[in-house]
Amino acid sequence: MFLLCGCDLEYKINITEDNLNKLEKYYNLLIEYNNYFNLTAITEKKEVYVKHFVDSLLGKDFFREGTLLDVGSGGGFPAIPIKICSDKLNVTLLEATGKKCEFLKTVIKELKLENIKVINGRAEELANNNDFREKFDYVSARAVARLNILSEFCLPFLKVGGNFISYKADISEELTEAEKAIKVLGGEIKEVKEYTLEGAKRTIIKIQKVSSTEKKYPRSNAKIRKNPL
Ligand code: SAM
Repeated sequence: MFLLCGCDLEYKINITEDNLNKLEKYYNLLIEYNNYFNLTAITEKKEVYVKHFVDSLLGKDFFREGTLLDVGSGGGFPAIPIKICSDKLNVTLLEATGKKCEFLKTVIKELKLENIKVINGRAEELANNNDFREKFDYVSARAVARLNILSEFCLPFLKVGGNFISYKADISEELTEAEKAIKVLGGEIKEVKEYTLEGAKRTIIKIQKVSSTEKKYPRSNAKIRKNPL
């Protein structure tokens, strides 16, 4: 158990002194770059540690070893805290906004992280590229889109047998809404982990890819949004 940043909060997360130092550097960079463009709405240290770092790391055990694609990384959540605390993952951060990608590259350089890269692009376009389609052991996403839409962005990237780990708030309605999309795209819900983080309801959903995704998915962003599965 670690006392994170001396902020009077204890969480059962197994991390080292070096991991904690890197999280501290990451926090400082996040706050510095947040002055130039929007990476996070919250900036107070304790809140960032809880709502970004701890929230990301509570899903850490879903990722063992192999390749991880984080879709819509933004400021780097959940994949950067996970990468800081796990050297067994080869990580790709996918982000549509160029400036955010520059920030993510700076974090990688300053924290001297290895086996991690950034791609500036859109999920629904990159998923049709054979170098990326059905190539990943894990896909993660937090705060990118509703689960039915997000599943079309994320499931095509997974190898059959791989897992999509989706970080959500209260999921009850969204999960029912996404059941058809998950099935059509070759996925199966394997686990729904619900917990409370400082009074806020959080959910992590593990969706396994059990069969290959049909080539016609993902469709264009406009089609996905206009007519979600
Ligand atoms: N995952 C981060 C987090 O939890 O703080 C960022 C969340 S932010 C609300 C959503 C991010 O997803 C934005 O940075 C946006 O540019 C990116 N995004 C949205 N749709 C995307 C897509 N189709 N492909 C790649 N990135 C996308």
